[in-house]
Amino acid sequence: MNVRLYNTLTGQKEPFEPADPDHARIYVCGPTVYDYAHLGHARCYVVYDVLVRHLRSDGIKVTYVRNITDVDDKILKRAAETGTEPTELATRFAAAYSEDMHRLGNLDPDIEPRVSTHLEDIFALVQRLIDGGHAYLADGDVYFSVESFPEYGKLSHRDLGKMKAGASDRLDGAQTARKRHPADFALWKKSEDDAWGWESPWGRGRPGWHIECSAMSMKHLGDTLDLHGGGLDLVFPHHENEIAQSEAATGKPFSRCWMHNGFVEVDKEKMSKSLGNFFTARDLFDRVEPEAIRYFMMTVHYRAPLNLDWNLDGAGNVTGFPQFEEAERRVAYLYKTKQRLEGLPPKRVVDSDAPTPTEIAGFSEALRESLDDDLNMPIALAKLAEFLKAVNELCDGAMRKKGKAPRSSVEQAKAGFRALEGELGLGAEPADVILLRIRDRRAKVSGLEASNIERRIAERTEARESKDFGEADRIRDELAALGVELLDGPEGTGWTMAD
Ligand SMILES: [Zn+2]
Repeated sequence: MNVRLYNTLTGQKEPFEPADPDHARIYVCGPTVYDYAHLGHARCYVVYDVLVRHLRSDGIKVTYVRNITDVDDKILKRAAETGTEPTELATRFAAAYSEDMHRLGNLDPDIEPRVSTHLEDIFALVQRLIDGGHAYLADGDVYFSVESFPEYGKLSHRDLGKMKAGASDRLDGAQTARKRHPADFALWKKSEDDAWGWESPWGRGRPGWHIECSAMSMKHLGDTLDLHGGGLDLVFPHHENEIAQSEAATGKPFSRCWMHNGFVEVDKEKMSKSLGNFFTARDLFDRVEPEAIRYFMMTVHYRAPLNLDWNLDGAGNVTGFPQFEEAERRVAYLYKTKQRLEGLPPKRVVDSDAPTPTEIAGFSEALRESLDDDLNMPIALAKLAEFLKAVNELCDGAMRKKGKAPRSSVEQAKAGFRALEGELGLGAEPADVILLRIRDRRAKVSGLEASNIERRIAERTEARESKDFGEADRIRDELAALGVELLDGPEGTGWTMAD
């Protein structure tokens, strides 16, 4: 393995070296399940999915743990607003989240721990911190004392002396007043008798957000992880606090590498609900293939911000997402190319010692090299574009009059598609299924129904059979004006939407 990754802890790109060279133990912070996955989540989990796929393609075992935060004050608040029971709300959104991740082509993590089933582990870790003098009780709450951990701030490169409370600490004014230092954070929060909570050694309450990730990651992966990942917004305070809790408890480094992906932005601001520039993955699934969203997320380096753009009509309604539509055209091209390759007639494929174009023969290696270099997905997509062009040229050659394709080139091209699926999770669906779906959705977006188009095609076929070529041409022109292109073939007339 020759993977180099940017490590937030050291501020450098460096070789990724798991403690056991054959087994990488990876933890990624999962979602707080009080709403649908948005495009920021989609980006984050596509990035780590590609990382896991790439390491596995390199032949090493990966244990991928991604948690679900199903106990949190945001869930409590949303449940109260909607008149739902918090556990029920969390269960419902966890299921929706899992469905969305599958549609985006993300593999399931090996372990998906939930806070609600790890309270004993959280109790044990909090107790250990109290016993070690790193945490203190205050009126039913338990706080971590940042001054007890001299290295506090080493991930986010902040100076404790200048630090105020972390913005994501989610505490009210009374809780803030109980803290010894403004940057101290809650490990356990008191719940009133009738409120959502669990009985603990410190009374009824619920865990703080940060402690859950330390408890769950160390339970499943050991005291020192090989890599801990998440969005850039988690560096401080969440990951800083995870380091403090874990290292104060064990005395060992918590993670060898820290990886963070950039935001999805709109006009250089982070996409967020409060700014009204917020789209869920589901908003987009109605408009484009989930695989196009996946593809688009790879067009920008994972550490850079990804700027989102859309079109509005005069009334301010969203009419389109040009970036996703472009990504869908590229995904369709990928599948059309795959379909052509798989559909080459056997008599056109011959044994030959003609050399295979390097864009095909070297594609798997080119993919590996680009991902080895800090998961450079834009370069991987550039290599993919060269590969697809070369595969199309191979097919063009085979389909020319008396044309042939060398068997070794065809086999290497097929191997290239397998590498693509393994490394990037692209091209995994049956081509005919996804291409039909893309076509029908595009027709619908243009205000056309597939059944109406097919009825007009049948009428054109009838006109041609009765030699009324004037009428047949009129129907063809009418459909062309609507963006529908007809494809006459030996098995009848198909259709496609023009790009
Ligand atoms: Zn976390």
